[in-house]
Amino acid sequence: MTLRVGIIGAGPSGLAQLRAFESARQKGADIPEILCFEKQSDWGGQWNNSWRIGLDGSGEPVHSSMYRHLWSNGPKECLEFSDYSFDEHFGRPISSFPPREVLFDYIKGRVEKSDVRKYVRFNTVARHTTYNEATQEFTVTVEDLKTNLTETHVFDKLVVSTGHFHVPSAPEFKGIKTFPGEVLHAHDFRGAERFYGKNLLMIGSSYSAEDIGMQSHKMGAASITLSYRTAPMGYHWPANTVERPLVTHFLGPTAHFSDGTQGDFDAVVLCTGYQHKYPFLPSEMSLKSPNVLYPGNLYKGVVWQQNTNLFYLGAQDQYYTFNMFDAQAWFARDVMTGAIDLPSLADREADIQLWLKRQAALPDHDAEADFQTDYLRELIDATDYPPFDLDAVSQLFKDWMRHKHDDILGYRDMLHRSVVTGTMATKHHTRWLNAMDDSMERYLNGPSQDADNGATVPDIVAAR
Ligand code: FAD
Ligand code: NAP
Repeated sequence: MTLRVGIIGAGPSGLAQLRAFESARQKGADIPEILCFEKQSDWGGQWNNSWRIGLDGSGEPVHSSMYRHLWSNGPKECLEFSDYSFDEHFGRPISSFPPREVLFDYIKGRVEKSDVRKYVRFNTVARHTTYNEATQEFTVTVEDLKTNLTETHVFDKLVVSTGHFHVPSAPEFKGIKTFPGEVLHAHDFRGAERFYGKNLLMIGSSYSAEDIGMQSHKMGAASITLSYRTAPMGYHWPANTVERPLVTHFLGPTAHFSDGTQGDFDAVVLCTGYQHKYPFLPSEMSLKSPNVLYPGNLYKGVVWQQNTNLFYLGAQDQYYTFNMFDAQAWFARDVMTGAIDLPSLADREADIQLWLKRQAALPDHDAEADFQTDYLRELIDATDYPPFDLDAVSQLFKDWMRHKHDDILGYRDMLHRSVVTGTMATKHHTRWLNAMDDSMERYLNGPSQDADNGATVPDIVAAR
């Protein structure tokens, strides 16, 4: 009987799985029956963002945490698909840090070319899953969000690719309930324009705090305070930005910090990360992990230890993104089809423990980039995913991190070279700090309005 593969989620990870099978088909292999469920009306996951907050048009939790003016926070050369280059997609070199819409277009380009849309059931949410040990089958209950009809599907293999940056982790702080200004989690942030002239407090010290903070600076916030739990980010912030240790409590509009300082704020943004949450899975198949580079219980970061018919893609914290999801999807495909033999449970556990031990000893961000590079190398070496120069990408990550430390407002203006095509990125017509229209049209065609030629004023400034 033909293998039946279910995929939950058609973001970059789920699409990588579709593409992995398509690549095998193009090489003449028989491929399984595939069905992918996507709760939104289009694919792209986080990159298919929305203006909505809370619930979407179907009454489901809004998935994407992305917002207006979000640009890639790492060089695009670090995430490039090795079987579909930026040159192939755009037909010309582009800059290294494109806005969301440009990357969304790139993700879509590859799967549209691969003709895999036929496998995806849109507007269909996975609700419930059971596994029958005797028959080794998954039964997945899904709901068609257009008709509200539920149906069940039976699969031999199940791929979980629902992402892990959409269920907020929102800690309680004493007095926050009576803070008179706006309090929101980064998941609900849609754009910083409304923070013009405001005094903002960001709690958290990772990518969201950094980027929402600097978006707010770009849009004219009066001041930005970043409150950290473990360690400050330590960038050379603009003059209106400071870092403080953790908030101890709020009293009215005043936040008190653990170093005894305090400040009055108009709004608080909880940039406190996200939870792994898989409400459609029973607890024994549901990954529980903090946001780390190597979650436990997944062999090669992909195969569920207690049930090797179950696969997770993209469950890691991410230096690498799209190309890592590809490497995982190719690996998962080959495990599903038997092209890769799995070792025993004990040997798999020993392998996981080696990675966890190494993870626990990582001294700094450079070592983290090397760690994930080595992880990718293992996956790619095991499959026919087109190899690329992983050491060169690891160096790109290190260059990028140094650029951030040198110039937190300017690192997105730097240029990097593709390891897939050798193409050097081109300088964008407008510095990130001055770019006030993040549309693909403006990005690609670059009219003079927000160009760095001093001839015209940026849109937002003109509007003030
Ligand atoms: P997602 O993109 O989250 O996609 C998961 C999909 O599963 C969604 O389409 C969702 O609708 C669907 N789904 C969820 N639950 C169900 C269900 N029960 N039934 C059916 N469908 C379901 N990465 C970068 O490389 N560069 C960046 O600049 C960058 N910026 C980011 C900014 C933010 C604010 C966030 C949160 C993440 C960012 N990322 C960035 C990382 C991003 O998570 C990955 O690029 C990528 O989107 C992960 O892909 P995924 O498919 O694993 O998950
Ligand atoms: P994250 O990287 O998981 O960081 C979570 C932060 O919250 C950490 O600093 C953590 O502090 C802090 N935190 C957690 N619980 C806390 C508590 N109780 N009190 C105080 N602080 C607490 O999450 P993220 O920053 O939201 O990033 C998620 C993903 O989004 C990443 O992949 C990132 O690349 C992406 N992103 C990209 C952009 C972009 O510009 N393209 C923008 C935003 C986000 P500790 O360090 O103490 O644990």
